[in-house]
Amino acid sequence: NPILFWHRRDLRISDNIGLAAANQQSPKVIGVFCLDSNILESEDIAAVRVTYMIGCLQELQQNYLQSGSQLIILKGQPIKEIPKLATALNAKAVFWNLDVEPYARERDRHLTQTLKDQGIPIQTFWDQLLHYPGEIATGAKQPYTVYTPFWKNWISKPKTEPVDTFQNRETLTAQQQEAINQAGAIPLPTAKDLGFIWDKELMLAPGETAAQERLEEFCNEAIFNYREKRNFPAIDGTSRLSAALKFGAIGIRTVWDATINAIAGSSSDEAQENVKTWQQELAWREFYQHAMYHFPELAEGAYRHVFKSFPYDNNLEHFQAWCEGRTGYPIIDAAMRQLKSTGWMHNRCRMIVASFLTKDLIINPKMGEKYFTQNLYDWDLSANNGGWQWSASSGMDPKPLRIFNPASQAEKFDSNGEYIRKWVVELRSLPTKQLITGEISDSQREKLGYPLPIVQHKIQQRVFKERYNQQKVE
Ligand code: FAD
Repeated sequence: NPILFWHRRDLRISDNIGLAAANQQSPKVIGVFCLDSNILESEDIAAVRVTYMIGCLQELQQNYLQSGSQLIILKGQPIKEIPKLATALNAKAVFWNLDVEPYARERDRHLTQTLKDQGIPIQTFWDQLLHYPGEIATGAKQPYTVYTPFWKNWISKPKTEPVDTFQNRETLTAQQQEAINQAGAIPLPTAKDLGFIWDKELMLAPGETAAQERLEEFCNEAIFNYREKRNFPAIDGTSRLSAALKFGAIGIRTVWDATINAIAGSSSDEAQENVKTWQQELAWREFYQHAMYHFPELAEGAYRHVFKSFPYDNNLEHFQAWCEGRTGYPIIDAAMRQLKSTGWMHNRCRMIVASFLTKDLIINPKMGEKYFTQNLYDWDLSANNGGWQWSASSGMDPKPLRIFNPASQAEKFDSNGEYIRKWVVELRSLPTKQLITGEISDSQREKLGYPLPIVQHKIQQRVFKERYNQQKVE
């Protein structure tokens, strides 16, 4: 009898811990992916993300076929569909890799119970992190709430090697094929079939081949200048692997291995330090996932007390202007337009626009977090929540208050205005200084069809601080 392997956010056959374990325990492994109606029918979904995911599934399906097995596609509620399939196939067991998100954990709890009731064994594994939650703890065996000590502990621990690529050893019987058809398997739909239309190019082509190629390309060159270049949104100085990491188109051990090889092959201490900076970003990803695992209430709202009932303005016109990239602040508008056009935004700009929404427009970060959820192709609950809580100063962060000045951020990180010119086309003809400072006269704005600033940074900064100090007292 086959083992059924349930793919979730591990859309690959290489370096997949749960799949490799199934492969070791049985010559016949059948894959399954369930298009989860709870996720696809929620309002927090982005066409660009579904398009990337379906692309990953296409390659995964090809890989299964090539090894004489199959990736079955189901649609509906996994807690119903997976047990139905496991029973129809008379599966020896169901295997899957674990996740940190509250929804996934709750779903898995239900499913585990159902399978147990039906007498079908399960095996689960940690795969998407180099260190699973609980493995990195303080001396008092508590989870970390501050990044730096977490990083020190995390980097000191040995990391595991990539595991073997899946290779099915026994083909399916006609009877099993029939059972699959009976259990509601469907052909893999396109994103369009599911009602999601994204007709622009994707930042990174979907699937594990493209992710591995991108990793190689990045680790051959850009990684050695990462520390400085990662801050400039006009430069392709970061890996752009975030969606591949979110959907598991690449294994984290493979990524880590590439950094070790980069360090071994680097020509100077300086080059090694750059690789280390990138490793620190991978650790941020794990820090936020551990945080979400241990403190699922983070997904609901502010972590710090002072922000739990903060008097935000939540002006809907301002929020709409921010979403549409027409705040009248060139760097903000450039970033928001990049997001809309590509489904991705440079990290520096994510920080700038999030600070602007929460500290200048004084809008609840939950609104921005949701908008990102509805537009990012690399959206990840833990990283997005962590990024928003950091920017809103509401999270696990020793620095209590941080307000970015859009003009000085643009001056530092887009000093020649290249990024702004790329995305705010109506301002292209202006001198760089005006793009950066945003000092554009009303008549110029009118002539170019560019909006007036919707708020004044200086005033808003004062208002925000006053409210913050007031809240601290209460
Ligand atoms: P690189 O710089 O090449 O970094 C490598 C990888 O490390 C990334 O792919 C990502 O997996 C991880 N990483 C890097 N920085 C962070 C970070 N600060 N926190 C957590 N992981 C990190 N990242 C997401 O993957 N999904 C999100 O939904 C998301 N939302 C964000 C929202 C806000 C407000 C902020 C400030 C940051 C957010 N980030 C998010 C983190 C970061 O912006 C992206 O991971 C990064 O821009 C992706 O580009 P890259 O792959 O080129 O990153």
